[in-house]
Amino acid sequence: MRASSYGGAGRFTTVDAPMPKPGAGEALLRVRRVGICGTDLHIFQGHLDHRVPKGGVIGHETFAEVVGAPRGSGFDAGDRVVVDPVVSCGACRACRMGATYLCQKLKVRGVDVTGGMQEYWTVPVTQMLRVPDTLNDDQAAVIEPLAVATHDVDRVGVKRGDRVLVFGGGPIGALIAMVARGRGAEVAVVEINPYRIGLLEELRLTTVGPDIDVHKFVETVTDGDGVDIAFEVTGNPAAARMVTDVVRVWGTVSIVAIHAEPIPINLYRMFERELTIHGARLYARRDWEEAIQLAASGAVPLAPLVTRTIPLDALRQGMEQALAGGPVMKILVDVTR
Ligand SMILES: [Zn+2]
Ligand SMILES: [Zn+2]
Repeated sequence: MRASSYGGAGRFTTVDAPMPKPGAGEALLRVRRVGICGTDLHIFQGHLDHRVPKGGVIGHETFAEVVGAPRGSGFDAGDRVVVDPVVSCGACRACRMGATYLCQKLKVRGVDVTGGMQEYWTVPVTQMLRVPDTLNDDQAAVIEPLAVATHDVDRVGVKRGDRVLVFGGGPIGALIAMVARGRGAEVAVVEINPYRIGLLEELRLTTVGPDIDVHKFVETVTDGDGVDIAFEVTGNPAAARMVTDVVRVWGTVSIVAIHAEPIPINLYRMFERELTIHGARLYARRDWEEAIQLAASGAVPLAPLVTRTIPLDALRQGMEQALAGGPVMKILVDVTR
């Protein structure tokens, strides 16, 4: 079978790999789609070489079809599934607290251990969730980032009437905005990429473009109060510096982006207004279930986010295009091609 092998920074090669054999409690999956996300772009640039082995197989935003599953598992050949890539120990303090996705020995399939960028893949049935037939393969591949968004929105408790500002209108920022809007919040998205601004506006989201002063925008729409909740989804130090400035007294800031380096943020604002700052990472089972339900009901449209679908052999070029920015939202790999 074909698999895409990571060969170090800038290198992915399609290789002929042995067919994986499912262990106890595992299903054999035929992978259909794998999304490329920001984490994969970090891997591509070699930033995660301390986690991703040479010769490893990436891909954590997956959609697959069951080839075979253990009897009594509730899954059968032909079932369409997404895979929660979290691997947790079940015994550490975080796991015992219920934060299994923050396990102190956390591993993620597609980062630390074998992921879905290959034709066939074995995974424990406990990590599989069924996808309704009303969602096509491309939409199903965007359920993983939607689970990130449902987690992020849930963690800060967005509710009806909240004013929410999202810094960054890439796939995760757009999904957070749509999930928050679905909860009855008034949402605006700060974005500089003109293609993404156009797409966000097609999704009827209010945008704050590069020609608009963010502070002034917030000042105007909130009558000087500040927004209830702000999400930092850019990873850009300038946005992180601004994010505490735009939030009201007792408001909440959520850090969703990966800031690999320590950077300045305005802690005076945190003190002055008694702000709460949350981190938000990955997802729990209930976040996946909510994501599937929001996707299936059409409450959060996923198809518009898919810019294009590429064959497995074109993974390196797909990464380069995503890194270059420009007119790109989500790129999916069609592993069957
Ligand atoms: Zn991802
Ligand atoms: Zn653990």
